[in-house]
Amino acid sequence: MTKAKYIGRFAPSPTGPLHFGSLVCALSSFLDARHQAGRWLVRVEDIDPPREINGASTLILQQLTDHGLIWDGELLYQSARTEAYRETLAALQHSKLAYNCDCPRQRVSTLGGIYDGYCRNRGVVDNAAIRLQVPTKTTINFHDLIMGDYSQNLSTEVGDFIIQRRDRLFSYQLAVTIDDYYQNITHIIRGADLIDSTPRQIYLRKCLESLSGQSSPISYGHLPMATNAQGQKLSKQNHAAALVAGEESENLWLALQWLEQQPPDELKKQPVRQILDWAISNWALDAISNQLTVRAPNHY
Ligand code: GLU
Repeated sequence: MTKAKYIGRFAPSPTGPLHFGSLVCALSSFLDARHQAGRWLVRVEDIDPPREINGASTLILQQLTDHGLIWDGELLYQSARTEAYRETLAALQHSKLAYNCDCPRQRVSTLGGIYDGYCRNRGVVDNAAIRLQVPTKTTINFHDLIMGDYSQNLSTEVGDFIIQRRDRLFSYQLAVTIDDYYQNITHIIRGADLIDSTPRQIYLRKCLESLSGQSSPISYGHLPMATNAQGQKLSKQNHAAALVAGEESENLWLALQWLEQQPPDELKKQPVRQILDWAISNWALDAISNQLTVRAPNHY
């Protein structure tokens, strides 16, 4: 078997402009791909209209371009993928890997959020969410490229999880896993806020592989989360400052320093292209801290 060529991706949700935390994710996935002469894709995860901010996807794409983070090929918008998600849901249900569930949210919260499989064999027809069935004793182990070994007992820590909500919105877990599989992504570099979603995605991917009969390896690396002075993760929810336009070189330099790549001082004033060229040649994924959080530079 020949080794699959590296394909990485950045997958922003258009819920606001990029901040320092999202820049380090975009930059790291870009550098890791380019350092390995791979492709780097951008996918706009716009499947949650209530959370979307008008104009955010255009702004994010402009911010990426301004920082020299130019993607390969066409952009993929998840909003254009609903047919594929629907077909996959139908196939999962047909194979009894997923089932309809009409349990009220309140019942699930009295169970501590871990669903007990009550609807597995009830044959619920209407007005239902769809859950992926997690067989008992399903433990997922993987070696994270940054955080090291990670293990989760999916049956006891997560349980059967929702892949389509009752209001028909597709879950993040479903859409992201289908698209990573469909786009032949080989490496995912993203924030550690998503590490506890990864076992769900690995399990769902196995289900997709069993449906299609085609398996392909994928590696994950989770970056520390950038925090503010109060120790909170920078996020749109706590109003992290958007990247300042016109300061792209400094932003990249600060991001490289935060990623412990030791960029030379004189690089700071160089155009983005030069900074990225240096960073691609000198990229060292293993220099990145394996702490869950690292303070963002004061500036942010
Ligand atoms: N769209 C998700 C977000 O912006 C990230 C998805 C991923 O990298 O898996 O938080």
